[in-house]
Amino acid sequence: MDACTITNAKSGLCSENCKFCAQSAFYDTGIETYDLKDVEKLHEEYDNANNIGSSKFGVVTSGRGIKKGTKRF
Ligand code: SF4
Repeated sequence: MDACTITNAKSGLCSENCKFCAQSAFYDTGIETYDLKDVEKLHEEYDNANNIGSSKFGVVTSGRGIKKGTKRF
């Protein structure tokens, strides 16, 4: 068995209106919202995941995507 860790690098504030999703800014769902985590925070989370034995580390974000090659990516 392999353990994996996923972090939500951007929570909520999404401009899309997917009715099933708590991260859409169209609805007051009470979730914690925040913009993109900085690289240092993601490195810290990666190290923590490594230390507890995760063999994979996934980064997900709310929204339609972040284009590869852009500063946000
Ligand atoms: S985060 Fe994804 S699923 Fe959720 S509202 Fe935005 S586009 Fe839709």
